[in-house]
Amino acid sequence: MSGLNPYPEGKPVQVVVKRELGNWYAYVMYQVALKSKPRPIREVGIDRNVGQVTCSDGMVYRLPDDERGRMLECRKKRYQRMVARRVKGSHRRAKAKRLLGKTSQKIAKRRFNWSHHTSKAVADKYTTVYMEDLNTKGMTKAGKGKSGLNREILKSGWYQLEQMLSYKTNVIKVPAAYTSQRCHACGHTEKDNRNTQAKFECLACGHRDNADCNAALNILAFGNGATARGDGVDVRRSVKREIERGVGFVN
Ligand SMILES: [Zn+2]
Repeated sequence: MSGLNPYPEGKPVQVVVKRELGNWYAYVMYQVALKSKPRPIREVGIDRNVGQVTCSDGMVYRLPDDERGRMLECRKKRYQRMVARRVKGSHRRAKAKRLLGKTSQKIAKRRFNWSHHTSKAVADKYTTVYMEDLNTKGMTKAGKGKSGLNREILKSGWYQLEQMLSYKTNVIKVPAAYTSQRCHACGHTEKDNRNTQAKFECLACGHRDNADCNAALNILAFGNGATARGDGVDVRRSVKREIERGVGFVN
């Protein structure tokens, strides 16, 4: 048995035993008493981009891009080619498929782990997280920042983090429009404010910032304003954490 029980005083209420690619896992759910006192309201805006999320407080959480991650991606590609080359229905193809499955699973677990760590770090600091609603209709028109395919990629990639955040803290979605083009300092909105992917420079007031950080500040301001006005923002309050999920691995 590996992995420690994070809730030794908790009462186990459910165990799910799963077999994933030859390994057995036991997912244990514990019921624990809430010990957290009501916290003072602290809010943050989060901008999601390719490979990283940026908080309005300047914190950047990058997806793991280390030696091992790159090695696993390489290996995955190699196994994919191997599967494609081998004869359908053959044992050798089945073997290659198994190897590919194992590698994909390792990559997914790393991402899962990262999402847990990142969402915890954010949820420990903030009671409310504002995020762009990437499903906002009518933002496919030209000049609205993250559009088309890029948005689809973002949506699928960040779904896990969003889910984890929403059960650890309050997540409020705000419409995603102009957050990357609007100057946080003066409000001037123009496509050319963001002259490169990384740098923001306002053509009206000259305000300079990291582009993602400027966007995150806009998301925060927008969320603040919308909630104060009672606009139709999609408020998704997380379920009360009476039951917290503890995960223990049994191999
Ligand atoms: Zn400006």
